[in-house]
Amino acid sequence: MSCLSISGAVLRTNARQRPYTESQPLRIEPLHLDPPQAHEVLVRITAAGLCHSDLSVIDGNRPRPLPMLLGHEAVGDVVDLGADVRDLAVGDQVVCSFVPSCGQCVPCATGRPALCEPAAVANGAGTLLGGGRRLRDAHGDVVHHHLGVSAFADHAVVSRRSLIRIDRSVPAPVAALFGCAVLTGVGAIANTAHLRLGETVLVTGLGGIGLAAVLGALAAGAGTVIAADVHEDKLAQATRLGAHHVVNTAAPDAAEQVRALTNGGVDVGVECAGVVAALEFTWRATRRGGRTVTAGLPHSSQQLALAPVQLVAEERSLQGSYLGGSVPVRDIPAYLALYQTGRLPVDRLLTHTLPLRDINVGFERLAAGAAVRQVVTF
Ligand SMILES: [Zn+2]
Ligand SMILES: [Zn+2]
Repeated sequence: MSCLSISGAVLRTNARQRPYTESQPLRIEPLHLDPPQAHEVLVRITAAGLCHSDLSVIDGNRPRPLPMLLGHEAVGDVVDLGADVRDLAVGDQVVCSFVPSCGQCVPCATGRPALCEPAAVANGAGTLLGGGRRLRDAHGDVVHHHLGVSAFADHAVVSRRSLIRIDRSVPAPVAALFGCAVLTGVGAIANTAHLRLGETVLVTGLGGIGLAAVLGALAAGAGTVIAADVHEDKLAQATRLGAHHVVNTAAPDAAEQVRALTNGGVDVGVECAGVVAALEFTWRATRRGGRTVTAGLPHSSQQLALAPVQLVAEERSLQGSYLGGSVPVRDIPAYLALYQTGRLPVDRLLTHTLPLRDINVGFERLAAGAAVRQVVTF
C-alpha cells in the first residue's frame, strides 16, 4: 500500500491567545501518511475525543515536540496491517490507548503497562512505539505523533501495541471515551484507590476524567460519593450522574463541608483537576487512614506543601495514578461490559459531537469549562 493523503489538525506553535475560535491554534492541513511498517496498523478513525491533555499541549502546559498532530482518545476501524500483525483483522473495531505497552520492560512484565518505559520515551519524542514517524506535511517535513495516536485526522498509523480490539456493536463516539477518560477515571478508583464496598469517595475536578471517576465509584459500590468543582454547572452534571453530594471548592470552608458530610473526611479522595489547590483541598478532605489519589497533571514546576507527619501519624497515603493504573487490554473490555449492562453509563459524559473543521470551537468550549466530553466524528 502506498502513502495516503489525509487531513488532520496540526499544532505548530503553542500558548496562543484565547479565544481559540480566533487564534485558531490547530490548523486542518493536508498530510501524507506512510503505510504501516512491521507491528503497525492503519486505522480509519471514526471518533476522537477532545481531552484536557490535548489542551495542555496547546497551551504549553505539557511541552511536546512540534509540529504535532493532536488527538489521543480515539476509536476506529482497521484498514491495513503491517508485517507481523496477525492478531487483528481488517474491519476490526479498535480503541487506541495513549500509552502503548511493549510487553517486555520491567513495568510491563510486572503488570503495570501504564508505566511502560519505551512508551514513555516514544510519547515524549512524538514517535510511535517503534521509534518511527509516519506523518509528513505538504512540504515533506516531519509531523510528530501525539501519544502514539494522533487521532484528529481521518486515518492514523499506530503501533499494534496501542490498540485494543472491542465489540463492533459499541457506537464509535462512546467507544472513543474508553481510550482516555474512562480508563483514567474509572481506573483511578478501581486500580489505584482499590475502592472497597461502602467506602466514601470525593472526586475533585469534574471534567471527563473526574465524572468518569464519579461513575466508577458508583459502579464499584461506594457508600457516599461527593463531587467537587468550582463550576456550578459541573456540580449539577455530577448530581444528574448520581453523586450524592456536591461541594463548590470556591467556598472557603469546602474541605470542612466534606468532613462534616463524612464524619471526618472521605476514605478515598481523587483529584482530577491538575491544579495544586485542588489536590490540597482533596488532601484536607481525606480522613485519617484514608487514601488520596491524584490523576491530574499540573505543570512540572508546581510544588505541593505537605506535612509528612500526617503520612505517618494518620497512616495517610498520597498516590499518583497514570492512565488509571490500567492494564488496557484487561480493563477496556471489562469497563465496556459494565457500560453494556447499564452499570457504567459513560455515554452520559458525551456532551457534543462535532466535525473536524470545528475543532478550535471545541477546544475553546473545553477551556471555558462549557463541555464535558466532545467527540470529533468522521
Ligand atoms: Zn486524555
Ligand atoms: Zn513496556
